[in-house]
Amino acid sequence: MVTSSHLPRSPIREVFTCPDCNKVHVTFWDDVKKIYSQQEWEYIVGQGVKALKKITEIMPISDDPKVF
Ligand SMILES: [Zn+2]
Repeated sequence: MVTSSHLPRSPIREVFTCPDCNKVHVTFWDDVKKIYSQQEWEYIVGQGVKALKKITEIMPISDDPKVF
């Protein structure tokens, strides 16, 4: 099994769509926070949470709303 240091392995604790940056903020149980675009999040939900690993490998996840 390949593990990734930047990939949170704990379950998701909180998900909300931010009215400020219009992105999906995800908080994991170990207090790791990630921000995904709506498109990324829809893909993750569509593929299941296991796809989270894949999506972090193929897309750079940015915490900076300016990038969008
Ligand atoms: Zn935000």
